[in-house]
Amino acid sequence: MSERVIPLVDQRTAALAARVPATPVAPTGLLADSLHRPLRDLRISVTDRCNFRCNYCMPKEVFDKDYPYLPHSDLLSFEEITRLTAVFLRHGVRKIRLTGGEPLLRRNIEALIAQLAALRTVDGLPPEITLTTNGSLLARKARALREAGLQRVTVSLDGLDDAVFRRMNDVDFPVADVLDGIAAARAAGLHPVKVNMVVKRGTNEHEILPMARHFRGTGTVLRFIEYMDVGATNGWRMDEVLPSHEVIARLRAELPLVPLDPSAPGETAQRWGYANAQSQHDPALGEVGVISSVTQAFCGDCNRARLSTEGRLYLCLFADRGYDLRSLLRGGASDADLASALGAIWQGRSDRYSELRASLPPESGQGKRRIEMSYIGG
Ligand code: SAM
Ligand code: SF4
Ligand code: SF4
Repeated sequence: MSERVIPLVDQRTAALAARVPATPVAPTGLLADSLHRPLRDLRISVTDRCNFRCNYCMPKEVFDKDYPYLPHSDLLSFEEITRLTAVFLRHGVRKIRLTGGEPLLRRNIEALIAQLAALRTVDGLPPEITLTTNGSLLARKARALREAGLQRVTVSLDGLDDAVFRRMNDVDFPVADVLDGIAAARAAGLHPVKVNMVVKRGTNEHEILPMARHFRGTGTVLRFIEYMDVGATNGWRMDEVLPSHEVIARLRAELPLVPLDPSAPGETAQRWGYANAQSQHDPALGEVGVISSVTQAFCGDCNRARLSTEGRLYLCLFADRGYDLRSLLRGGASDADLASALGAIWQGRSDRYSELRASLPPESGQGKRRIEMSYIGG
């Protein structure tokens, strides 16, 4: 693995200026980009640090003790995040996902959740607030997160076999502690808990069935994610991607499945329900999902914006630059100015990397200047 790790190009120095347009863009909740896609989902990275070193995300060779993480003064404060989020909500965002790095490493994250939970969408409702975590601190924090207003949680878990899991997180973290975190999240009422498993061919593909057997019928929704060519350090190769249709075929060989409708427009996962003897979905057995970011592009209804830890707005997971909203914030922009700047940026959006990837030669993106998953959060 290590010989394929590609030296880091520090993307964070490159930013696009966020400008207040001459003609204001008033927030109506109906903002759409140049491909008519609305803005509905905001993913906020609250830290670029992590206590794991998953080699598909933060390979040890790059993210070592000398890695230049952002200094604290560069991070958006909770007040800044909340103010920006309120602007995003006025433009139509309904759902907020906190991520990282490892979001539970950000001190007093509960206070941020409480501030966000007090905001309202254009419909006058509280935003849906969820969080993606590696689960290592969840057993300790689940209840406080729930009390602060978190509604749901997604836990990343790449296998049940302790040796495989320790190898993949590369810090020797035991699987039992993550399973305890999942149990604590369920007990705290963070329903439904979702579990994301990144599948790498040759690394953890043999964990697909044990994971499915383990979570079937528990109310926890397992989703298999295709290993993606994000960032520029993980040495991604197409032959390590196990396409979702193969995952489904392997599951169906043992566990009968029927396709389910998407639960919301723009949903990234394709859903499959566990079937009973009559080949009907049995809700008591639950469902699994596959996220086919590589083999099946879902850019057509991508309604997601991403805010980096230091306040840059990224229009696509595969963008090489973000718009510097922090300079506007710290430069004294009014809320109306912020709304106009955001509105104009979103109106100009035409990103659709996954659709275009299909027409690129394999692996042509590797080594390209591109942001890291640990920086933008997925
Ligand atoms: N640390 C948290 C965690 O692991 O859940 C949140 C941040 S992590 C970057 C968000 C998600 O991105 C995780 O589910 C992780 O498995 C996924 N991820 C990271 N690198 C990936 C890659 N190359 N391909 C697919 N998913 C990836
Ligand atoms: Fe950390 Fe999450 Fe990346 Fe793993 S996937 S290194 S837990 S940020
Ligand atoms: Fe959205 Fe970019 Fe992913 Fe397409 S590639 S679904 S535009 S984030």
